[in-house]
Amino acid sequence: MTDQLEPMPEDWQRALAIVAHPDDLEYGCAAAVATWTDAGREVSYVIVTSGEAGIDTLAPDRSGPVREQEERASAAVVGVTNVEFLGHPDGVIEYGTALREDLAAAIRRHRPELVVTLNFDDTWAGTHWNTPDHRAVGRAVLDAVGDAGNRWIFPDTDAEPWNGVRWVAVAGVDSPTHAVDVTDGLERGVRSLMEHRAYIEALTDEDPEAYARGLIEGFARDEAKRFGGRPAVTFRLYPR
Ligand SMILES: [Zn+2]
Repeated sequence: MTDQLEPMPEDWQRALAIVAHPDDLEYGCAAAVATWTDAGREVSYVIVTSGEAGIDTLAPDRSGPVREQEERASAAVVGVTNVEFLGHPDGVIEYGTALREDLAAAIRRHRPELVVTLNFDDTWAGTHWNTPDHRAVGRAVLDAVGDAGNRWIFPDTDAEPWNGVRWVAVAGVDSPTHAVDVTDGLERGVRSLMEHRAYIEALTDEDPEAYARGLIEGFARDEAKRFGGRPAVTFRLYPR
């Protein structure tokens, strides 16, 4: 019998999802976001790059605006209207104090109780090497949650310190601890990924809907084994 996951905490009102690229949340956890916004919770997105290096056939100056627009459309499908782009360079994000300061400033502006980010482990599914951007951003998110609460670290951000983050939830990991039942949000999770049409069409010859549905429904079905048979999006939770 597979070890069963805990349900994600539900006693919170505001979440902030911080990831490297447009599409990271749609491949990872948009169905969970739909479930949260259905319950009246506020979720905002901060995307560290504009994903401008993500489409082989489209130069960065044209790709960035397309990908920002697709991300805003994806967010709207799951009830998220607040989407910010921090403008770090796609593919070559540097882990360091400049990144931590930008993320701490975002956390201070949004004052979330829950912060969501994406797998920053060395690998996906054990053997696929993760990207440098994902590794840098995920680690910086966890660090910036602490920075945001300390008035003496990055004292020049516009917003006041915020030490109210209670959990950081990391999507897309091999060793999750918690899950969200996405029975009601799954269809919107599929449609939110489909909004990345220019990206998907450059990536695969498969029909975009068949591609998005196969992936997102497949992930949710796989995770159901660890969550009482319910379609699930899973997270590794770091309490604070
Ligand atoms: Zn990514």
